[in-house]
Amino acid sequence: MKINIEKIRKDFPVLHQEVNGKPLVYFDNAASTQKPKVVIDRIANYYANEHSNIHRGVHSLSAAATEEYEAARKTVQAHLNATHDHEIIFTKGTTDGINLVANGFRSILKEGDEVLISELEHHSNIVPWQMACEGTGAKLKVIPINDQGEWIMEEFHNLLSDRTKLVAVNHVSNALGTINPVEEVIHAAHSKNIPVLLDGAQATPHMGVNVQDLDCEFYALSGHKLFGPTGIGVLYGKEDWLNKLPPYQGGGDMIKSVSFEKTTYNELPFKFEAGTPNIAGVLGLKSAIDYVTAIGLDVIAEYEQELLEYGTEKLSQIEGSKIYGTAKNKASVISFLLEGIHPYDTGTILDKLGIAVRTGHHCTEPIMTRFGIPGTVRASFAFYNTKEEIDKLYDGILRVKKMFG
Ligand code: PLP
Repeated sequence: MKINIEKIRKDFPVLHQEVNGKPLVYFDNAASTQKPKVVIDRIANYYANEHSNIHRGVHSLSAAATEEYEAARKTVQAHLNATHDHEIIFTKGTTDGINLVANGFRSILKEGDEVLISELEHHSNIVPWQMACEGTGAKLKVIPINDQGEWIMEEFHNLLSDRTKLVAVNHVSNALGTINPVEEVIHAAHSKNIPVLLDGAQATPHMGVNVQDLDCEFYALSGHKLFGPTGIGVLYGKEDWLNKLPPYQGGGDMIKSVSFEKTTYNELPFKFEAGTPNIAGVLGLKSAIDYVTAIGLDVIAEYEQELLEYGTEKLSQIEGSKIYGTAKNKASVISFLLEGIHPYDTGTILDKLGIAVRTGHHCTEPIMTRFGIPGTVRASFAFYNTKEEIDKLYDGILRVKKMFG
């Protein structure tokens, strides 16, 4: 099946506007994706007609909201192919999910233990582990990358040891687009009984993810990168691991009973969902998942690869442009620099032309340090983008070069 681009673009109201007098070209999808009308309508309808707090009320509105909320959990379960719906924890996003696990590991890690991450991580999969290590005396170890922006797998295998208590790595890099060989990592880690957390923030918008096939212990994602609302995310965890970890936050909903002498915690998933959750966000995320499922994640992946190939070829034609991240296996992200031109200047001129790209370190300062650059210009494509828009980017870059050249 081919993507029906005209129909799809109509589904996204935000795309049909002018920015600085030019039709918007939105190439900042790795930072956050736009929302189809079904998601916007779902949230509006919830607040207009359905709002009530969940899990607590005997009245009809509360029961209906609870049912919708729990139905969304089942949608996520099916989307990730988790074994149980109680392995799906609703969080604020990827950052929140990783912090939940990192907080739990504070009660597991001891002096001399190691947490293995990679040089390719977003800050949100670095800092929580640094904090966990600081509090426990454990050490952070880092898989280095090569010039293409790929993990050096030999180094990974050397770093994996009996001291390693967790491997926490991203599935797809936000800064360079590398699709990482997580299967090999999980296989090697499991041969030493080491659990693996995958940061799936950038994988889930581009590909189908099957957590049972992957066999990872934890998988974190963000709703807003998956065409859903901000402030909602998912942490998948294997049942035995979620049972092993202590609660992240205390409060309502996460308890079975409370007295001043002793509190007993609720069972999964509620143990990790303290307080009134983001009900509207959960319902919006369900709509977003239904939406991309209807298009087909394989159809999306194929079309985005076409955009990636086209964009890479166009940008490579520009004299003085250099693409950072040239892995064999890549998602639709192109990070680049123009010789002698600061990324902010490129981004600012492109914005004047209505083209939204991201500039800077993309919350991955260690990658920029690795390449000895202050940051990059990043164009990241979603399935609602077109080759014509990439042509506009190409023309825009030529304009930037003329102005600063
Ligand atoms: N991990 C990766 C690879 C990301 O790209 C991002 C966001 O850009 C995050 C984690 C953090 O996601 P959030 O800010 O939605 O928690």
